Amino acid sequence: MENCLFCKIIRGEIPSTKVYEDERILAFRDIAPQAPTHILVVPKAHIGSVAELNEENAQVVAHIFATIAHIAEQEGLVNGYRVVSNCGPDAGQTVGHLHFHVLGGHELTLQMA
Ligand code: 5GP
Ligand code: ZN
Repeated sequence: MENCLFCKIIRGEIPSTKVYEDERILAFRDIAPQAPTHILVVPKAHIGSVAELNEENAQVVAHIFATIAHIAEQEGLVNGYRVVSNCGPDAGQTVGHLHFHVLGGHELTLQMA
């Protein structure tokens, strides 16, 4: 996906602060953090949102969640954290590449962060 912002980050065309990377996924710090720790975890293969997940491409989500547990430990989120994926305009999705927000580091309200 040539013009997708997160595909550009994955390709290294836009710099990011990487937290974790392997052949299937990338985790990097959100540019506008809404909590002391705010990390985005994305599949390297372009998937538009949760709405585009299916039996064929959803395995990467299990890998993302398994990795989030490690990242949370690495980041010292011992009191807990929140994982959020905004899907579509009503949820306020602004980047059309599937991503999971990992938010923590202070007590979270019922707002996203
Ligand atoms: P959404 O609103 O789609 O759920 O989340 C998109 C997130 O991407 C936002 O939290 C926003 O701050 C973050 N973001 C937007 N552009 C960039 C960027 O260029 N670099 C990084 N690291 N994060 C970005
Ligand atoms: Zn993309």
